[in-house]
Amino acid sequence: LEPAFSFLIRVRLPGGIATASQWLQMDRLSDSHANGTIKLTTRQAFQLHGVIKRNLKPTIQGINEVLLDTIAACGDVNRNVMSHANPSESPLHAQVYKLAGDLSRHLTPQTGAYHEIWLDKKLVSSSKEETEPIYGDRYLPRKFKIGIAIPPYNDVDVFSQDLGFIAIEEKGKLIGYNVAAGGGMGSTFGIPETYPRLGDVIGFCKPNQVIDVAEKIVLIQKEHGNRENRKRARLKYTIDTNGIDWFRKELNNALGSPLEEAKPYKFTRNGDRYGWKQGTNGKWSLNLFVEGGRIKDSEQVALKTALRELAREVNDAQFILTGNQNLIIANTTEKEKVAQILKKYKVWPTPLSGLRQNSIACVALNTCGLAFAEAERYLPDLITKIEDILNKYNLIKEEIVIRMTGCPNGCGRPYLAEIGLIGKSPGHYNLYLGGSNTGNRLNTLYRETLTETDILTELEPIIEDFSKNRVKQESFGDFVIRQKYVTETNQGKDFRH
Ligand code: SF4
Repeated sequence: LEPAFSFLIRVRLPGGIATASQWLQMDRLSDSHANGTIKLTTRQAFQLHGVIKRNLKPTIQGINEVLLDTIAACGDVNRNVMSHANPSESPLHAQVYKLAGDLSRHLTPQTGAYHEIWLDKKLVSSSKEETEPIYGDRYLPRKFKIGIAIPPYNDVDVFSQDLGFIAIEEKGKLIGYNVAAGGGMGSTFGIPETYPRLGDVIGFCKPNQVIDVAEKIVLIQKEHGNRENRKRARLKYTIDTNGIDWFRKELNNALGSPLEEAKPYKFTRNGDRYGWKQGTNGKWSLNLFVEGGRIKDSEQVALKTALRELAREVNDAQFILTGNQNLIIANTTEKEKVAQILKKYKVWPTPLSGLRQNSIACVALNTCGLAFAEAERYLPDLITKIEDILNKYNLIKEEIVIRMTGCPNGCGRPYLAEIGLIGKSPGHYNLYLGGSNTGNRLNTLYRETLTETDILTELEPIIEDFSKNRVKQESFGDFVIRQKYVTETNQGKDFRH
């Protein structure tokens, strides 16, 4: 007998869009082969948790039956390409969504091993060499992440990506993308050579150049990334080791001509835009809040049941996973029916504080083997206690970005939050303050190894001060810097763990 190993399965979904039949299949597999829940990740992917070893193959085969797969959802290759573009929102959004798929296809490993091992396409090993057009004889030194943002919304946190594209429009038409390189969230406690970093905007390219730009940057990282020290293997360290001018030169040489000057752009928020929205094609989409990205039924809210019924009953609905762990019931003509079903199961409408609506929690304990502390199972309760403070100071509607992770790897992008909490040990967190609500500034360590009581005690006077002394429309992150609770963290190397 061997131990009952259990696994998580991550399903790649470029741009985050699933059909109703794909949703129903994930729902079925979560019940038959996993722990009965679905996690929506911060990279717009599905995760199933608690899949025991003998169920791995039938689960992956079930995923494949609805034309989804797990290829490159993990590993030292390009991961799920993010974009919050709902194609019905406008023709520009449709172009960006298509680009997410094109980038994903172009950079996905071509190996047949996945199909042989998991889908019973027989041959499992051969002396005949396979050709990997991009990766060649070895994958990248480390994972690689791409996201595409459409200003004014930075809902993919484009500066946290190894490679970010910022869509630029002129008179409603997409003219190209600014290119941001070298972002990344992960760090390790006690190793100052590791740090979160914001991507640098290095130029502009036309829509027909994007695939080439992405490929050349991937190849530069493949060639020059650190293969001796995994903790320093991401593109952000390659750029910091060699310098941004070196990187630009390498890229321009590889492209054969330099990128154009970056174009002006402005982000106003990195959170989701909740509620109904009508696309230019007349169809309706509803952005729902999903706490911790967890699809399950609770005593109060039958979320999983409601979404299953929606997928069965609303024929044209799509399900768009957002980069903030939420869900859009998208592109439907049956607005009333959607609203009725969600109301029946108490999913929507629900009054939510501005803080809760802007919260992210990674999986952490008891599922993630790297976690030092709770996140997803604990943040909702902590938010309730912070909401008591916000209520006291009449700030319950204030949109403040709060993110918690169980370790400094940063899967929930905590280093960009206005209030960031990173697990140190069970029940203890480092508190970071001063990120922006547009995702363009790292936060700064404020206090270390805090208990819940400590966190509330530290936050209350700052929140009170904010209620009394903020200048008009000043965000919480900007306020704590202006009031010198923390100093602004410049680029990653200055970051304190
Ligand atoms: Fe696990 Fe750490 Fe990632 Fe959270 S941030 S999911 S604890 S690796």
